[in-house]
Amino acid sequence: MSQAELTQTESDAVTGVVAELSAEKLYDKCIELANNLWWTWQPDVFNLFRDLDPIRWRQLDHNPIALLKEFTPERLELRAAEMVLYSRINHAYRRLKEYLTTKDTWSATHAGVLGSRPVAYFSAEFGIHESLPIYSGGLGVLSGDHVKSASGLGVPLIAIGLFYDQGYFKQHLDVDGYQHEEYMDTKVENLPMKPAISPDGTPITVTLETRSGTLKAKVWKMNVGRVKLFLLDCDVDGNKPEDRELTSRLYGGDERTRIRQELVLGVGGMRALKALGITPGVYHLNEGHSAFAPLEGMRERIVEDGLSYDDALRDVARQTIFTTHTPVPAGHDRFDAGLIEEHLGPLRDAMGISHDQLMGLGRVEPQNPNETFCMTVLGLKLSRRANAVSQLHGHVSRRMWAHLWPWRVEEEIPIGHITNGVHVPSWVAWQMLQLYDRHFPSGWYGRMGEADAWQFIHNVDPGELWETHATLKNLLLQFVRRRVSRQCRRRGESDDAVERARTLLDPNILTIGFARRFATYKRADLLLDDMDRLDEIVNSTTRPVQFIFSGKAHPKDEPGKAKIRDIFNLRNDERFRHRIVFVEDYDINVARHLIQGVDVWLNNPRRPLEASGTSGQKVVLNGGLNCSILDGWWAEAHDGANGFAIGNGRTHSSVEHQDARDGSELYRVLEDEVVPLFYDRDVDGLPREWIKRMMNSISTLAWRFSAHRMVMDYTRHAYVPAAGGLSCDMNQF
Ligand SMILES: *Cc1c(COP(=O)(O)O)cnc(C)c1O
Repeated sequence: MSQAELTQTESDAVTGVVAELSAEKLYDKCIELANNLWWTWQPDVFNLFRDLDPIRWRQLDHNPIALLKEFTPERLELRAAEMVLYSRINHAYRRLKEYLTTKDTWSATHAGVLGSRPVAYFSAEFGIHESLPIYSGGLGVLSGDHVKSASGLGVPLIAIGLFYDQGYFKQHLDVDGYQHEEYMDTKVENLPMKPAISPDGTPITVTLETRSGTLKAKVWKMNVGRVKLFLLDCDVDGNKPEDRELTSRLYGGDERTRIRQELVLGVGGMRALKALGITPGVYHLNEGHSAFAPLEGMRERIVEDGLSYDDALRDVARQTIFTTHTPVPAGHDRFDAGLIEEHLGPLRDAMGISHDQLMGLGRVEPQNPNETFCMTVLGLKLSRRANAVSQLHGHVSRRMWAHLWPWRVEEEIPIGHITNGVHVPSWVAWQMLQLYDRHFPSGWYGRMGEADAWQFIHNVDPGELWETHATLKNLLLQFVRRRVSRQCRRRGESDDAVERARTLLDPNILTIGFARRFATYKRADLLLDDMDRLDEIVNSTTRPVQFIFSGKAHPKDEPGKAKIRDIFNLRNDERFRHRIVFVEDYDINVARHLIQGVDVWLNNPRRPLEASGTSGQKVVLNGGLNCSILDGWWAEAHDGANGFAIGNGRTHSSVEHQDARDGSELYRVLEDEVVPLFYDRDVDGLPREWIKRMMNSISTLAWRFSAHRMVMDYTRHAYVPAAGGLSCDMNQF
């Protein structure tokens, strides 16, 4: 029947139905896009969500599901018509479908052996996007970036973590600069996750026996591009009230909370994989938090396959990769014998081993009753491949754990290194990406982990690079002003103060960023060593400098909170109030603005305690320059022409001496190297030498410190050999 044969009212009705159908379809496509975290690294998709309602987008923490809930299909369609969004939505949707179905990936040619037996990647936190608060800092962001690059490269990988419904805290400073923590209940229905379903169609719950009762966890499933992320959650019926809250906060509670969370992550994670019908070929323990997982693997082999204890251990270790992440002793979880027996007792009964034998697996000296159970030791003993996260950290870790292998010389301690990297699409500004696209050969994007892809930066016109950077710097300053004025208002400060915040900072001034956790060894207050010298640097009449700080202190870290307060209170000092600002509540969103807009990223940890650090790697992609102590990744990255080094890489046996020396060296580098280079302008106002350094930084560092390179290294040197039962070649030192 054609349209002409209908009466007018019938025709209206049909048109209405068609419109309704297409509105529904459009809405469903948006929901589908929002339900795969692939969107988080697709500028065309998140710009699309933003354009639906820019103000609500910001207010809702860039959460597209929460945003779409405020739309009916009809309103969405109206908005799409207004903004001419149809083709953008359809295009994005098609791209997602193509991405999910293509067989043509790096992994298809380099990691075929993993095809049917994927890598199971365990981590206590995943930093994927600001709207998903299941991360606290560097470790989480690294896991998130690992998963995203695995997706990009097509590496078959299943990620396992915990779902924290209150996540990590939001930071508020009071008028005196003291940090307060606020925990917010996450609305599960606004997150892109669904209950994980077993092959027989039922939602999965795992059960863990302990000496003090049974613990249950449900399992959520999330899509991160091609990778599935499963998150265990103890908020289930049947758990005691206190156990329902076990996984509510990341790194919350006491040691008992900690070991129970780690039992759920490691042992629970293994059981979840089994219930899902997944048989991994490789287990990657990202940090010691998940090191109970191989114990469960051993139990399975002993109980179900009838293997001996020794054979089970060998078998499991051959498939297990362990990554250690810090040389700071407090960063390695230790539990006493009572907690181990309470939580692992039933598991060791099933394995048929004694309490002492189990304790021995977590001790450097197995028979030493005074030694607590260390998760890192367990991870090292139950894996055949272990690695640190930078070259220097490799050296430090081999020395740190040498006594586990007393019969070996230090060079033969089986801990190699794979240096961390960052997921380029997540951290590169859209404006920089466009610049790269204009000047790099097509196809470079797929080869972002390879050196030659980035060499074309040297063909870019210096003025164009500088302009792009200036745009990003302006966006950063606007962001900081907006945030800081809002934060003043929330504290109930005067209209004057709010107004002053709106005019903070100057786009023509050299802008240095410093943002990270306020852990002691990161020495956030090193810059405050000599206030008169700082005054001279900041307030130079010809070559001034401004600083933006951000970062959280652990809730129990009073010295860390005191450092935040000291920096924050510089706003009460006439000399610094316009030039040194603190932005509250450092998270992925704040980080993204900072690393995309600063001229210089400052890092001054107490060497050699920074295992890698990754924030400076994000800066590289956007044309900022690193100025850092030669620690972590920077110790192997700096070549004299791609950034600035503070000190010469020596350590001192006295911490006080080292801090004092690094402090004065920091001022010297700023005064003699950074400031003069930045203000050295040609007739066009361009800092030619500075721009050259930006280009050197991009061409020498962007590929090497990309997560694509990192995941390719793990795949070649760890995953593929482990899946094929081959020996390790990760000791690339
Ligand atoms: C990248 C990142 C980190 C890690 O940075 P470091 O250099 O290791 O301090 C921490 N927090 C957030 C929010 C990040 O984005």
